[in-house]
Amino acid sequence: MFRPLLTLTGGLIAALAVTAAQAKPLSPEDLSVAEVLRDRALESSDAYSIVESLTVEVGPRPAGSEGDRRAVAWAQQKMKALGFDRVYTEQIEVPRWNRGHAHARVVAPFPQPLVVTSLGYSVGTPQGGITAEIVEFADVEALIKAPARKVKGKIAFINKRMERARTGEGYGPAVGGRSKGMRAAAEKGAAALMIRSVGTDSDRFAHTGMMSIDGVENPVPALALSAPDANLLEAMLKRGKPVEVQLDVHNQRLEDGPSFNVIGEITGREKPQEVMIIGAHLDSWDEGTGALDDGAGVAVVMEAARMIAELPQRPRRTLRVVLFGAEEIGLVGAKQYVDAHRSELDNIVAVSESDFGAGKIWRFDTRLPENKFDIADQMMQLLAPLGIERGNNKSSGGPDSSVFVAQGVPAFGLYQDGSDYFDYHHTPNDTLDKVDADTLKQNVAAWVVMSFLAVEMEGDLGRVPTEH
Ligand SMILES: [Zn+2]
Repeated sequence: MFRPLLTLTGGLIAALAVTAAQAKPLSPEDLSVAEVLRDRALESSDAYSIVESLTVEVGPRPAGSEGDRRAVAWAQQKMKALGFDRVYTEQIEVPRWNRGHAHARVVAPFPQPLVVTSLGYSVGTPQGGITAEIVEFADVEALIKAPARKVKGKIAFINKRMERARTGEGYGPAVGGRSKGMRAAAEKGAAALMIRSVGTDSDRFAHTGMMSIDGVENPVPALALSAPDANLLEAMLKRGKPVEVQLDVHNQRLEDGPSFNVIGEITGREKPQEVMIIGAHLDSWDEGTGALDDGAGVAVVMEAARMIAELPQRPRRTLRVVLFGAEEIGLVGAKQYVDAHRSELDNIVAVSESDFGAGKIWRFDTRLPENKFDIADQMMQLLAPLGIERGNNKSSGGPDSSVFVAQGVPAFGLYQDGSDYFDYHHTPNDTLDKVDADTLKQNVAAWVVMSFLAVEMEGDLGRVPTEH
């Protein structure tokens, strides 16, 4: 950057200040190793075989289930096989739930079946099911504002469409119906809640997902309708006659039980107590095989760490891969991790998570103190050739990472193209065929650059002031 020198002495001081400010934090040696890693990743990294292994050998793995237990064993065995120095688990406590069946059919005025699925932790209907009239709401706010007499005894139907976007930004405005709808319906004495699936596809399957259940006194059954079935109900309601739907739902809430965060480390050679955390979540919903959410993320961070473990020497700091448990049901593993490690948070130099499918990475976001932006600028020199642009400094680092970020831990976010992520998210269609091996190579290339530079650089990343 060019800075005019104003006066002779003032100018000399200014020039010295500029030189100090321009001393680059990442050394040319570190950058050249990162470049080699990047190019090697593009050529020969193999995250695909890791997500293939997880989906074929484990499959669905909801928190606290038999599949979850097998995933935990799988992850430990895989990390050891990939050459991590230390592999261990940390136990967490999770609420558990078993999906049973969910049947819905219109009984009047135009009888026909509907395709639905239970939202996570939904209660069932009484024996023999229930039949009630549908009352439609544009979004969850409309349901919350509605007088109880309009809702009482009826099935509240939230018919909110989600917009498609590369950033996935349509999710936030749409997901409230799923997370808060059942609580609002129950408080107004509704018989049940049905929502248009939070998704961007028009396939005839429904999207499940978590809802808020804590402290709801009389929970009611909560279901998602496939998008075509939501269209069908909408069209029937437009004909002006009462629409009655019969629901028969069976689910089972189980005792709380154990799950685990699975952790693997490449131990630092100089400052082993200083740690960069790269994460993904190991649990998945039950209906697909969790290939996109979050098998791909698990594979990308494990493969990036494996490549760093293959270098002739260990990095300066420790690289810690954390596969969080029970993310889907409310960041349970991440919250318990931060609680258990509160006294060591100052040693976590940065955190980042891959949990947005398997699309190409196109943007690099950060959450760094302002005086550390030049580190991101230097990383960008190696990321830009991968088709990645510099984003903002508001990154949460990913869902589980956000719990660390709330404590002032710096974060990086390698943002994937999520244009079609919500076509598959939380559906039976989240399967391996949606994952492209070459795109994962690009992902690993970006992750290995960011991870290696963060654990190898001389200086640190400071702390980010938290907002209160
Ligand atoms: Zn996820």
